[in-house]
Amino acid sequence: MAAPASREGEFTVDGVPVRAGGPADAVAGVVPRWVALPGSTTEVAAVLRAAAARDLAVLPAGGRATLHWGPPPERCDLLLDTGRLDRVLEHAAGDLVARTQAGVPMAALAATLAGAGQELALDVPVPGATVGGTLAGGLAGPRRLRYGTARDLLIGVTVVLADGTVARSGGKVVKNVAGYDLGKLFTGSHGTLGVIAEATFRLHPLPAGRAFVTVTVPDPAALPGLAAVAASPAEPSAVELELPDLSGPATLAVLVEGVAAAERAEVLRRALGPRAAIGTRAPAWWGRPPDGGHLLELRVPPAAVRPALAAIGAAAGDLPVAVRGSACVAVLYLALPGDVPPAAAAAFVAAARAAVAPLGGRLPVVAAPPAAAAGLDMLGPVGAAALMRRVKDRFDPEGRMAPGRLLPAAGGTTGGPWTPS
Ligand SMILES: Cc1cc2nc3c(=O)[nH]c(=O)nc-3n(C[C@H](O)[C@H](O)[C@H](O)COP(=O)(O)OP(=O)(O)OC[C@H]3O[C@@H](n4cnc5c(N)ncnc54)[C@H](O)[C@@H]3O)c2cc1C
Repeated sequence: MAAPASREGEFTVDGVPVRAGGPADAVAGVVPRWVALPGSTTEVAAVLRAAAARDLAVLPAGGRATLHWGPPPERCDLLLDTGRLDRVLEHAAGDLVARTQAGVPMAALAATLAGAGQELALDVPVPGATVGGTLAGGLAGPRRLRYGTARDLLIGVTVVLADGTVARSGGKVVKNVAGYDLGKLFTGSHGTLGVIAEATFRLHPLPAGRAFVTVTVPDPAALPGLAAVAASPAEPSAVELELPDLSGPATLAVLVEGVAAAERAEVLRRALGPRAAIGTRAPAWWGRPPDGGHLLELRVPPAAVRPALAAIGAAAGDLPVAVRGSACVAVLYLALPGDVPPAAAAAFVAAARAAVAPLGGRLPVVAAPPAAAAGLDMLGPVGAAALMRRVKDRFDPEGRMAPGRLLPAAGGTTGGPWTPS
């Protein structure tokens, strides 16, 4: 890039520390040439302007929990590490609003907010996962049933585009990019549109109490009616489903929180019958995608969850498929072991997609081992592919932000993970 070296491999660009990339910085096997560590929105803009002047491909990185998900970047000259964007800028407790830099770990933000009896109601169980990475990853946890997703809780965002332009929308508005809701676009964008530098969130009071009702049945066909559980007078905040193997027992776990949580949970426990149990602790698997080298996200209309699982079970044949996720909002994660041969994984993905399509379902691949990702159609058919490409061209016309990680190829399929929430 530029500037005099201070220590070998280290220098500054407009005051921003930059160092040489190494194997520990590799993203899905691609080692960046440099790693920049800006500490403010202005410094992010300076780094991106410098990268633009040198035609460098840039990949934003937060806590790196899921940086390896998806296909390798086509190019990665510069890893923009948000580790120094680590300040909670404002917590207006009276307004239930917080503004934070993007590199703040979600756990640190939670600790700050808890001091005022408040929370950002996203369930992110991964140590080190940052605000920016959580937004850009576009995943949401069990309590999306009650609180919605990151997209719903985000009320303002400051982003820096590939050419260094700083743009803001919502919240504490200074300058809007006309016609775009930046928060909605950048949630789930996987670093391909620009860098999220700051975010403003709507908060909730910490719940007064919480209780879990769990019921395990011998197979998915014996699960209680999901619509009835969601509409129960217990008013669940989350209804999660766990199937270690599609052909085996299924567990439904329901979170009831707020005032008189235990009493409301007891009402539900009785309604679910003698197999149901009540407790105060979440099951160990709560809020985590199932383990496996291949991770797929199933989205179907809520009424089609059961037939979709049956159809996927038929498509899986002898392959072990684990399922976990939010049953009542019908966002479920499927996992296949990482050592399933790439050809078998690809055949399963194709067959399962064909099986859920008539039910209105989609089944993008969120993560796959690098060897398998190259041969997988990660997204499957994407109705909005042309629109996504136009948005990408508008924000990053030179294609330097996280190239190869998100967009379907011009033909309409393949590319990186795209998990609009
Ligand atoms: C309920 C729930 C359960 C989860 N469970 C697990 C789990 O068990 N294991 C697991 O590995 N993950 C899990 N995740 C996913 C993980 O928590 C998120 O992906 C994580 O929040 C990523 O944060 P990060 O800072 O580590 O991002 P990174 O891994 O560093 O980056 C993730 C993506 O975001 C982009 N990005 C990062 N920061 C920015 C930024 N500032 N601007 C633009 N783009 C950016 C990156 O380029 C990359 O595409 C879970 C998430 C949820 C919501």
